[in-house]
Amino acid sequence: MNIVVCLKQVPGTTQVKIDSETNTLIRQGIKNIVNPFDTYALEEGVRLRERYGGKATAISMGPPQAEEMLREVISTGADEAILLSDAAFAGSDTLATSYTLAQAINKIQEYDLIICGRQTIDGDTGQVGPELAEMLRLPFVAYVSKIEEVESGQMRVQRMVEDGHEVIDTPLPGVITVVKEINVPRLPSLRGLARAKRAVIPVWTAEELDIDRNMIGLAGSATRVVKVFFPQRVHHGEILEGDLEDQVESLIDKLREATIT
Ligand SMILES: Cc1cc2nc3c(=O)[nH]c(=O)nc-3n(C[C@H](O)[C@H](O)[C@H](O)COP(=O)(O)OP(=O)(O)OC[C@H]3O[C@@H](n4cnc5c(N)ncnc54)[C@H](O)[C@@H]3O)c2cc1C
Repeated sequence: MNIVVCLKQVPGTTQVKIDSETNTLIRQGIKNIVNPFDTYALEEGVRLRERYGGKATAISMGPPQAEEMLREVISTGADEAILLSDAAFAGSDTLATSYTLAQAINKIQEYDLIICGRQTIDGDTGQVGPELAEMLRLPFVAYVSKIEEVESGQMRVQRMVEDGHEVIDTPLPGVITVVKEINVPRLPSLRGLARAKRAVIPVWTAEELDIDRNMIGLAGSATRVVKVFFPQRVHHGEILEGDLEDQVESLIDKLREATIT
């Protein structure tokens, strides 16, 4: 069974700062990590490979430094990793990201299952998984919490819904996004660390993909970040004067006023 796992490198903090001029993330001084949800996607891909044989391939679109993340991913079980990196991919929105990933997966050719995390912790849209399925014209299941079995080109999965679980049979090849309830990701092994050090990670540029230049990067993005801002907090605090009784009376009056208006 050949599995492709999509992983994104994200800033390892929720305290992101935005450049007000360019509306992009200020990345200096921030340590990057594997998007946490993608570690569950990877673990599931590696477990499937261990159970059914085949190969788990990690793929990421990002800047050159994402190679470091892909080495980490090899140390935790991926058989191989591919980095999609090119200045032409910069500024991609989710549509352009999904298109680029889809073209790379088309180039890989032999795959049975594509696994994504449910969402990233920076872009946070949860759109890439379903868009990828649409572009590859493959069946899609979101929020998968368990892969029960894979047999004869079919897969039975459980997906989380608001008040329980659904059990779904879906043909392969297909695309799923996974939730963190699906497994506990393993730590890097010594053997994995040695493999990661030696691994050659191919970098595919736009040139190497069968790609329509109008569908990648900023040009291929249907959306633009026009403005990024933090909502301003408006404080209407008031300190009540007098002794406790006066303060309570005053508070009751104010609450009555507020209820009436
Ligand atoms: C209008 C707009 C402009 C943007 N401009 C920029 C920009 O200039 N520079 C920039 O860095 N970002 C930019 N972004 C963010 C970038 O488009 C998103 O990070 C990217 O499209 C993925 O979306 P997401 O983070 O919401 O992923 P989600 O849809 O939340 O991710 C779901 C899953 O898809 C997979 N996945 C997502 N992204 C990748 C990836 N790159 N490689 C492999 N797998 C992936 C992972 O498995 C992930 O768990 C922009 C976003 C928008 C909306």
